[in-house]
Amino acid sequence: MKTLGLIGGMSWESTSEYYRIINQTVKEKLGPTHSCRSVIYSVDFAEISRMQHQRDWEGLTAEMVEIARRLEKAGAGLIIICSNTMHIMADVVADKIEVPLLHIVDVTAEAIKEQGLKTAGLLGTSFTMEEGFYKERLRDKHNLTTLTPSAPERETVHRIIYEELISGQIKEPSRQKFQEIIQNLKERGAEGIILGCTEIPLLIRAEHSNLPLFDTTLLHARRAVEEILK
Ligand code: GLU
Repeated sequence: MKTLGLIGGMSWESTSEYYRIINQTVKEKLGPTHSCRSVIYSVDFAEISRMQHQRDWEGLTAEMVEIARRLEKAGAGLIIICSNTMHIMADVVADKIEVPLLHIVDVTAEAIKEQGLKTAGLLGTSFTMEEGFYKERLRDKHNLTTLTPSAPERETVHRIIYEELISGQIKEPSRQKFQEIIQNLKERGAEGIILGCTEIPLLIRAEHSNLPLFDTTLLHARRAVEEILK
């Protein structure tokens, strides 16, 4: 097994899910006493969030490159960024390290295509829903169409992520709001929903949606394990 390097803490609520899933998956694949050989570099999310909202992508890119290099030095044979948003700079990070970086959009797109779907609704931070890096990769590399919620709905999703989910608050009214937004995306033609923020699966699970869900945390973590076991 190669060592998996995780850039985490964005937020720790979802990184702890990654940690649980990677260990659970290794256990399923290799046997009950096995666990995942891994190194986690966990950031202080308050600083990251401040820089995101100031749109200091240059500063954040430098930081992500530095962390990826540290993980590489610590022996990581594969690196994952445990946040959809922070894939804004994933290609730059991948270019600056020797080991592979497993891109969350590619893993998610493969799962969507496996189910034979062509159009997916995307829920995530406003950066993920609006900046283009996510939708364009889905379109240009994977030939998939993405639908995003209306402007006020995007604001609601973003607010719930940063004001509630990041700090582990799971609230029923917010779940209902997400369900309404999913329903609206369905009416506009979405065949499935990308939970494109690694904390959303803490709030929305299969039983809360009448469309197939693509849980990026689960898909990314499980695929990372498959890669390090190859
Ligand atoms: N974990 C989130 C994501 O997947 C949001 C936190 C962040 O901005 O990194 O996008």
